[in-house]
Formats: sequence, C-alpha cells, structure tokens
Amino acid sequence: MPQPAHAADLILHRGRVMTMAPDGAEVQAIAVAGDRIVALGEDRDALALRGPRTRVVDLRGRTVLPGFTDAHTHPVSGGLRHVECSLDRFATAEDLVRAVAAYAAANPDRAWIVGEGWSMETFPGGIPRREALDAVVPDRPVILWNRDGHGAWVNSRALEVAGITDATADPPLGRIERDPDGTPVGMLQEAAVELVMRLVPPHDPETLERAVVDAQAELHSLGITGWQDAHVDPDQLAAYRAVAGRGALTARVVLALGSGELDSYGGPDGMVALREAVAADARAEPAGSPGVRRLAASAVKFFVDGVMENCTGALLEPYLDAGGRPTSEAGILNFPPDRLRHLAVELDARGFQLHYHAIGDRAVREALDAIEAARRANGARDARHHIAHIQLIHPADLARFRALDAIANAQPLWAVHEPQMDDLTIPILGPERTAWQYPFGSLLRAGARLAFGSDWTVSTADPFPQIEVAVRRVWPGRRDGVPFLPDERLTLGEALRAATVGSAFVNRHDEAGWLGPGRLADIVVLDRDLGAADAGPIGDTRVVATVVGGEVVFEAAALEG
Ligand SMILES: [Zn+2]
Repeated sequence: MPQPAHAADLILHRGRVMTMAPDGAEVQAIAVAGDRIVALGEDRDALALRGPRTRVVDLRGRTVLPGFTDAHTHPVSGGLRHVECSLDRFATAEDLVRAVAAYAAANPDRAWIVGEGWSMETFPGGIPRREALDAVVPDRPVILWNRDGHGAWVNSRALEVAGITDATADPPLGRIERDPDGTPVGMLQEAAVELVMRLVPPHDPETLERAVVDAQAELHSLGITGWQDAHVDPDQLAAYRAVAGRGALTARVVLALGSGELDSYGGPDGMVALREAVAADARAEPAGSPGVRRLAASAVKFFVDGVMENCTGALLEPYLDAGGRPTSEAGILNFPPDRLRHLAVELDARGFQLHYHAIGDRAVREALDAIEAARRANGARDARHHIAHIQLIHPADLARFRALDAIANAQPLWAVHEPQMDDLTIPILGPERTAWQYPFGSLLRAGARLAFGSDWTVSTADPFPQIEVAVRRVWPGRRDGVPFLPDERLTLGEALRAATVGSAFVNRHDEAGWLGPGRLADIVVLDRDLGAADAGPIGDTRVVATVVGGEVVFEAAALEG
C-alpha cells in the first residue's frame, strides 16, 4: 500500500510536547512530514496521519522540546580537542602537567604542543609558571590556552622561539606576566598570547573540516540543532563552507566573522561579498541537499574587552586591591570607542548583525553606544544585534537593551558561587558591583530579549546545566550551595524560552525555535517528563533523540525501545 499523500513520516505520541509557542501550549503528540511539523495536538490528531511507512514512537510520557540554538559557541575549538592537548578534565597543577607530558609523549612528531582548557583557579593568582612545563617538555614549544581563551601558559622554549625576554615590552592590549625582576614567568595575557601564537603552524583544511563535523555530532547529541559560531577566521569559514558544500552540515549555523580579521576579509565590503557568496552557495544547492542552505555568514564579532579575573574586563570604575581600595586599573578596551561606533555604523549599514563580547560594565556600555550609533545613523531595522557575556551591567544600562532592541546573550552557567567568582572576581569588584552581575531576571523585567549561549569550549555545551543554573543560580556540581543573587533567577519556562525561542531569534531561524503546524521540524526528545514530580534536577536531563528539518540526526538508542 503506498504512503497516502497526507501521511506523516514521523509521529511522536503519548508524551509532553512543550511547544514554546507564544501561547505556551503543551500537547501530547507531534507529527512530521518532510522537514515540517504537520500536526500538533492530541494523540488522535497525530495518529490520524499514520501511513504504512510512518515511523511511530510511543514517548511514554517523555518530554519533547524545540531544538536548542546555542547563540554563542566555538565548535571548531570543540572539535579540535580531539587533536590538541585538551586539559578541561584536570583540576590540579600536577594533573595538568602530567596530561601535558602524556600528550607530548603520544605525539612525538608534533613540533608544537598546543592545548587548552585549564582553569585559572588552579594556580595562585591565576598565574602558572613555565618551569612546571619545562620539566616535562624542555625541547619543544608549549602553549596552553586557559579556559577563558584570554590568556595562555607557555614553557621556556616557547618564550625563546618568540624572542620574549625581560627586555620585551608588553604589546598594546596585552600583558607578559613577570617576576619582580622583569623575567617572564610563562603566562601571557590577551594580545601578548599572539607573540607566540603567530608562530604556531595553522591547521590544515582537513583537520578543520573534521573538527566541524565532530563538533556537530557532539552538539546534536546534546539537543542542539543550530548555533552561532562566535568567531570564525578565514580558514574556519572555508571549513564550514566545505562541510556544507558536500551536504554534511545538518545543523543550522550562523557564522560571526572576526572583526580582528577585518583586513583579511577585505574590510566591510569584502565581508559583504563573502556573505553573498555563502548565500549564493545556498541558492545553487539543489533541493534534497540541505547542507549549504543551513549556513549563513551574516554576523561580525567584536571582542570589546577581556575578562574580569585577569583584570582585562573593561570597567567604568577601577578594580579594587586586596584592601578594597581602588587601583589604577580599569581593564582593557580593545577598541577606541569612536572606532567601535564607526565600525558598527558601517557594518549595520551593510546589513550585518553585530555580536559583541562584553564582560565589564564599561564594555557593555560601549557596545550599547555602538548599537545606538548605528541606529541613529542608519535608522532602526530588524538588526538583531546582540551582546554576549554581559557579566557586569551598570543598572542605568539595563533599560537600554529594550530601548535599542539589543539582545542580551547570556551564558547562564557562570552565574554561580564558584572559586573563580568568589576568590578572584568578588574581591576585585567589591560588594556593590558584585550584585550587578549576570542580571538575567532584571533584564527580563526591563523588557529585554534574552538568548542563551554556552561559550563552549569555555564551558560545557550541554544546555541543561545552563538552564538549571539560570533557574537556581547554584552550581550543579554542588546543589546544596548558596544561590548567587537569587533575585536574578528565571522560571524554568523563561530559561527554556531563552535557549530555544530567544537564541533562534538571534540567528534569524524564524521558522524554528518553537513548535507549531507548518514550522520546521527541529525537535529534541528528552529522557524524562520535565513536568513529573520525580523528574530530578533539570541539569541531569539527557537528550535521547535530535531531529533537524525532519531528519533524525542523533538517536541515543532506538526510540521505540
Ligand atoms: Zn566566546
């Protein structure tokens, strides 16, 4: 018997389908045909579309959500963890050094040891020393990015090949950490990392393409159906285009071109040409090969400042010293404000989305000022500019997010009491500013649009621990801890909405983000009923299947099982 014309390809029934639709509807069942949702409602509505070849899954009460969009992530770094020296599992200095030694021994042909993922709280003052690395890798240069990606630990050989000595001046916007006598200790901050990084051989195209594909598989397994890559360089852009060009990009992806590579992209007009080339690939792609149509290069990323823990986050008032007195340091602004505004006007006029990294209250204000300048010069449009991280927002700036229609792109996992916050950040901010951090509840009350991003590989890519922290403001690794600024907690509905509707909005995936008839079938199936009394902590939730455009791209085990 042939499949009836109106039959569904996939029916999920007897579950809790949380649509995240504007009316907040929850239904029992969903049916998909091709790449679209064709029914949403009671079991009998969906089952009426059953044909002989329809895949019918009994959810047995499990929850279905729209696919998650990650509005700020670094998947290429995530994928490269498989080839580089990945350190994010190690919590002591001894374990880190042992892991570097093991990696070096296992990779004798690598001229450089490149790694990432160690935490500043592992070392006194957040600063490790070269001698520890010299003891295990004396002959090859070693460079290890910290988890934030704003500093790197190097060995003596790396300093030597880069020619960094006590006579080397700090570069603009960077700092070489030194002993009192001026000798570099082996820790480079911000732009100083480039003194060594520029000597590291680039990854070949195959490695980068494999990183994209590996990362995509990992993200699909976490229920992520789309993302914004928060910074691509020309090589990474080429890798995404190659993967998309052979139809292997199943996720919906927006790329933020790095403003630091403005020249290599040919300036703002060169960026327009690139964006159009990516879009033209999309139009040329025949139906049924959806890869290229899922890729857009429509955002530009600006690192407005650094991070708080190493005092490179840009503040309106100075950092405090150990005695609570103001220092002379107020962080690093990576752009003169007029340059930031000028570029915002130029790129906004060309239809780009602006994506800002802003940690300190000064950086957030400069980003808002840049967006305001663009609106004043070019008029208000549906621009969807967004400001990521938003660790410290001056209360006077909260209402500007709504007024300027700037999206607050939050990384909720960071809004907890943990050593980096308690030992490194709170003392240098003082009590008043401590209370201005990660003000997600205040932003919503001020009418701001909220989106979520993981900042993977800085943090986990898994949306559920992020959602748990947004709701509880307690670290999931210590659930009996004290909430961090509990007035800023969100409801579960608000948090889920930010991670689905809010982040899909950032990416202009306007037919995804919430479930409705005729909309794209981007769906995740969870291992539990989120509404059940015994559902357990939300952060422990697992995804059992992920669907993008009707295609099952991840399945932990047969759903029918
Ligand atoms: Zn980031």
